Amino acid sequence: MKHTDLYINGAWVPGADGARFDVLNPATEEVITSVASAGIADAKAALDAAEAAFGDWAARTPRARSEVLRKAWELMTARLPEFADLITLENGKARADAMGEAAYAAEFFRWFAEEAVRADGMITHAPASGARIIVQHKPAGIAVLVTPWNYPAAMGTRKIAPALAAGCPVIIKPAAETPLTMLALMPLLEEAGVPKGMVNVLPTASPAALVDHMLHDPRVRVLSFTGSTSVGRKLLHASADQVLKPAMELGGNAPLIVFEDADVDAAVEGAMLAKMRNLGEACTAANRIYVHADVAEAFTAKFTAAMAALKMGNGAQDGIDVGPLVNASTRDKVAAFVEDAVAKGAKVELGGKAPEGKGYFYPPTVLTNVAETSDCVHDEIFGPVAAIQTFTDQEDVIARANATEYGLVAYVFTEDMKRGMQVCERLEYGMVGLNRGLVSDPAAPFGGVKQSGLGREGGHEGMMEFTETQYISASW
Ligand code: NAD
Repeated sequence: MKHTDLYINGAWVPGADGARFDVLNPATEEVITSVASAGIADAKAALDAAEAAFGDWAARTPRARSEVLRKAWELMTARLPEFADLITLENGKARADAMGEAAYAAEFFRWFAEEAVRADGMITHAPASGARIIVQHKPAGIAVLVTPWNYPAAMGTRKIAPALAAGCPVIIKPAAETPLTMLALMPLLEEAGVPKGMVNVLPTASPAALVDHMLHDPRVRVLSFTGSTSVGRKLLHASADQVLKPAMELGGNAPLIVFEDADVDAAVEGAMLAKMRNLGEACTAANRIYVHADVAEAFTAKFTAAMAALKMGNGAQDGIDVGPLVNASTRDKVAAFVEDAVAKGAKVELGGKAPEGKGYFYPPTVLTNVAETSDCVHDEIFGPVAAIQTFTDQEDVIARANATEYGLVAYVFTEDMKRGMQVCERLEYGMVGLNRGLVSDPAAPFGGVKQSGLGREGGHEGMMEFTETQYISASW
């Protein structure tokens, strides 16, 4: 499955200037392979291909588009283990996490195969003029997709599937750490019947210039970005020049609140999922764990035991729960968060020190007594470090949970559903897990408020990000 060239207009090309960059295995620090690095000439070729493919695909019936997407789901589902191997190889995550990601990624094709036929419009009488108001949704045009390394398959399919469902061609720029998975998907899309030029993949070692060029090409109409808030802000500025339609999935700082009336075992299980899925390298990862003082001791003991039971190692090996982080800078950032928290009074209950040797490993770590001023309370940890704080007052914990510029996801654990719903509604987050540590679902609108993003992926909303609404005022 190792394709290493650019994928433009249905063909593998080495790139106009022949530049390449290395992709590493984070578990061994060895070079897996080198990949072609796209430049401006390649972006132009991809834009030409997308432009040429657009009209025919957009003119196909929704059912015809739907059937291609359905086939893509079938083909990907038949090859989940191969995708999982590749994801683990370039990202490092444990194989169970990679299998979970591959299945989740494939589901977007099935979900949007079903949504492709549901771009509902509307017709109604204008109240005063007597005209008819006809509303329809049309494909918005060429979409530029920029994705992060933490979910090399799913962050791509979550954009490609709705774009194709809506009728839009795409140019996807995967993260330089993990380009292989997206390249490996292309033969399957071809086999499913995606016409050449509809999906183009441009890995690059120079993302800023490449993406900026595309965002200033008048043929591009949509920017769909998943990544950090800092890069998202820059791309929002750049998309303003052409007034592009932006869909931004940015960073998070998820609070996880365990009330005194929670089922502690269920809360531990939910917290493990919310913290350790993808070894904490997730925008949805529980970044701040607030536990009511009455259950803090019981929760911390059980949670620490569950963290201690996780086995760290090369994610490709059997029985491994925690693979390496994606690269040295991510590992060093996680280590710095722990050092800062400890310097400000945190107690290390478990872990807290990167092992010697090859691979970007950091062990499952539990910190208690974390000061509100610690860096890990304000910034994304993006690693296997659980920062536990306590609270006694509901109003106080809601205020602390909301005291961030982020607003992606929050988690609440309580056995009192009335209280749970009241707290959920007070939380300034695009998504809330109530007695659940996992919210991601292709059928649900995923996305954040405040500086966690604009727009939604998945659900019905996901396809609408790639459409424009047209209103026709008619008389007959
Ligand atoms: P990143 O912002 O560094 O990179 C994301 C993508 O943008 C990569 O493809 C990268 O090559 C590209 N990029 C970087 N600088 C660029 C520039 N100047 N111009 C154009 N493109 C540029 O993020 P990352 O480190 O790859 O991923 C981690 C971040 O992604 C975290 O903040 C995480 O919360 C966020 N994330 C969010 C979601 C979500 O759905 N909200 C999902 C996954 C990850």
